[in-house]
Amino acid sequence: MDHFNAANEIQDLQYFGEFGGVNPSISDSSTYTFLSAKTMFDTFEGNADGCYLYSRHSSPMNLYLSQALAKMENTETANVTASGMGAITSVLMQICKSGDHIISSRTIYGGTYAFLKNFLPPYQIETSFVDINNFDAIEKAIQPNTKIIYCESVSNPLLEVADLKKLSAICKKHNLKLIVDNTFSPLSISPTLLGADIVIHSLTKFINGSSDTVGGVYCGTQEFINDTKNVNNGACMLLGPTMDSFRSASILKNLRTLHIRMKQHSHNAMYLAERFENDGLKISYPGLPSHKNHDLMKSMMNEEYGFGGLLTVDAGTTEKANELMEMMQQENLGYLAVSLGFYKTLFSCSGSSTSSEIPEEEREEMGISDGLIRFSIGLDHDIKRTYKKMKECMIKTGVLQTEKV
Ligand code: PLP
Repeated sequence: MDHFNAANEIQDLQYFGEFGGVNPSISDSSTYTFLSAKTMFDTFEGNADGCYLYSRHSSPMNLYLSQALAKMENTETANVTASGMGAITSVLMQICKSGDHIISSRTIYGGTYAFLKNFLPPYQIETSFVDINNFDAIEKAIQPNTKIIYCESVSNPLLEVADLKKLSAICKKHNLKLIVDNTFSPLSISPTLLGADIVIHSLTKFINGSSDTVGGVYCGTQEFINDTKNVNNGACMLLGPTMDSFRSASILKNLRTLHIRMKQHSHNAMYLAERFENDGLKISYPGLPSHKNHDLMKSMMNEEYGFGGLLTVDAGTTEKANELMEMMQQENLGYLAVSLGFYKTLFSCSGSSTSSEIPEEEREEMGISDGLIRFSIGLDHDIKRTYKKMKECMIKTGVLQTEKV
């Protein structure tokens, strides 16, 4: 792990624009001309490297961004998509066909959960949801038709960390693919170094970092990416979640500062997590020794980028959580909004927003309580000041009892 640094990999890439510009030129075209009809045919067949045909298949800027993300995730190549869900669904539908079976962590993003639980079964693709670090349960869930183990490296919203090395060993033993959504821990965790086969991101979050677009990517072998883009049976080619070139240009520019942003998100989240815990709040943050996966995360991560910008606070009830979030927004400490990775702190009550697709009793079983607030901590310059103001809101709303302080 010592010799690989994802940020250096990105930095070492050099792109120039058409007129010597310091940023690559955007190709503002959905279709491309050919000097000869034969080259057009060859391109269609995938036998004319360097030629472009039609932008749903590929476009210069999407290839630049894909290349940079492949470098970051240490894979041969990658493919950017119009959203994180566009990446997740393309990968799953490429690998799994009618009659196949998936094993998935039960603590995943609500949209992914809904896709596995509700959307795929009518196509005869079933999923077993497991506690991702219960290896006995995983081995027991494996069937002859199992194709995939799916998880998030740090899960949404509970911040459970998956032991990717152990999961990879199980996958190798049973000839399964390990697919990891690394949205919560870019740069800090490099899943392929721990044995993942395919790495997915919602670019909407930290990687773009501006909350101005949705986007996604899947990173893997050239062979797999080619399969997904095959004109006859490629899931991404045929389902069509194509990213627009203007968006990939702006995401590529934002990717340049990801390493600096991640350090600041992590620094600020750690500062708040330590103090809130000390104040007696029910808090979950992988950087705290009290977090059940703290040592595991430490053993997997590149410490330079910290434990990430996400933390959760249990406010007790939905009413208390709502009161606190509304007050924090009034005080301009952040926005009551879903999503993550923005410069400003974002907070939402997971049970009634991004995890609402998961039925109530299953949420309860997983530990997503009604009052659970997920914070995506922003890039605040003076986190000490933020802490003081947040604490005042917590005391005023009764989320923090004054006698505990
Ligand atoms: N993966 C994770 C961990 C997420 O949190 C999300 C969205 O919240 C997604 C995937 C889906 O990404 P998108 O909203 O870009 O489709």
